[in-house]
Amino acid sequence: MAASDGTVIIGGGLAAAHAVQTLHENGYPRAITLIADEAVAPYERPPLSKDFLQGKQEAEAAIVHDADWYSAHDVTLLLGEHAASIDRAAHTVTLDSGAEHPYGHLLLATGADSRRLHLPGADLPGVMMLRRIPDAEKLKAAFANGGRLAIVGAGWIGLEVAASARQAGMEVTVVAPGSTPLGSVLGDQLGNHFADLHRRHGVELRLGAHVTGIIERDGRAAGLETSTGDVEADVVLIAIGAVPAVGLAEAAGVKTDNGVLVDSALRTSDPDILAAGDVANAENTQLGRLRVEHWDNAIRQGQLAAKTILGHTDRYDWQPYFFTDQFDLGMEYVGHAGPDARTVIRGDLDDGEFIAFWLEDGVVTAAMNVNIWDVNDTLRSVVGTSVDEDRLSDEEVPLEDL
Ligand SMILES: Cc1cc2nc3c(=O)[nH]c(=O)nc-3n(C[C@H](O)[C@H](O)[C@H](O)COP(=O)(O)OP(=O)(O)OC[C@H]3O[C@@H](n4cnc5c(N)ncnc54)[C@H](O)[C@@H]3O)c2cc1C
Repeated sequence: MAASDGTVIIGGGLAAAHAVQTLHENGYPRAITLIADEAVAPYERPPLSKDFLQGKQEAEAAIVHDADWYSAHDVTLLLGEHAASIDRAAHTVTLDSGAEHPYGHLLLATGADSRRLHLPGADLPGVMMLRRIPDAEKLKAAFANGGRLAIVGAGWIGLEVAASARQAGMEVTVVAPGSTPLGSVLGDQLGNHFADLHRRHGVELRLGAHVTGIIERDGRAAGLETSTGDVEADVVLIAIGAVPAVGLAEAAGVKTDNGVLVDSALRTSDPDILAAGDVANAENTQLGRLRVEHWDNAIRQGQLAAKTILGHTDRYDWQPYFFTDQFDLGMEYVGHAGPDARTVIRGDLDDGEFIAFWLEDGVVTAAMNVNIWDVNDTLRSVVGTSVDEDRLSDEEVPLEDL
């Protein structure tokens, strides 16, 4: 490692912002350079499918630190600059502009990109995806025109946009291949709960349906062809997941496999290069190898990568956490349940306020609080322990006593 060189971070998301903040807060003595190809300083994406689309929050409110914060803390912030390549032998990053930046440590916080639908017509005007602020602005402008929205995918982003679009008065159809939305994450019982929520609010769910084509009219997308018939629409949103942005790492010969492979200190196969956030497929000391695409993980891994650079011995040892807000349902989930986990409910699914637990071999592997607040830290402490099913479901047993 070139000892006199500082840290270069590539990426303009939460992992990058929190890595910079942690380096700064811990008195990192060397130069910090942040290379981010979006036009604005690193920001939080969750509002893009919720409060921003619903007109409750401006996009700028999601920015973690404004550009002045970086200059006030001696961080070189290069916005609108795309890192083109890494020369590991020379310890340099080259930008599209040709500028070279030497590094001692390099952090890859390049996140993920929306997964593309490989069908003719997927690039037509009227077909959208949602990852960045300009995507959200385009979608919000489409909401203002009203009409019909067809969403491909019943994952978190597809369902959150469905809820926001209904609240904006659009007619919404969600097309997805599974028998329940979110079934692969939550299982059928909770997946059906989300399906009911959406149907109650007027979303049409076309489940068990495959998209076979995009309907084109006058050079624009006019809906979807599906295995269960056509869905006419004014706007189409493709929300079929995300793919980790591993191109730079791969080209530099850093090991990848469903993300950039990192150890529990977030070091890649090159000890001077780390990866954090959506792009990192990391060794969790409790759960094994995981790549997590969630807000909390990007924050914590950004912090952990900084600590590794600072010489601390912290490890990736926490349970994943995420949240969603759809219509009148707000929830937090902690843990990592497998597809065959058993679900136990505490409370009443019908009244919308309950806690779900997932159990595998008698051990609680995940828990989710729905419209019940200030309990997630307690649930976190239950995850990983063995608890009798009857006690889990018995509301008379305080959560703290589980
Ligand atoms: C619409 C939406 C809603 C979401 N809602 C939730 C939610 O409710 N709850 C939750 O837990 N999670 C949610 N998430 C997920 C969460 O936002 C992500 O997990 C988080 O953004 C990951 O942060 P990151 O820093 O790893 O990557 P990203 O946020 O993807 O940031 C990576 C950045 O790096 C930049 N970049 C990539 N390559 C280069 C390069 N070569 N040169 C320069 N810059 C580059 C990218 O342009 C991007 O700005 C949501 C995501 C989206 C898109």
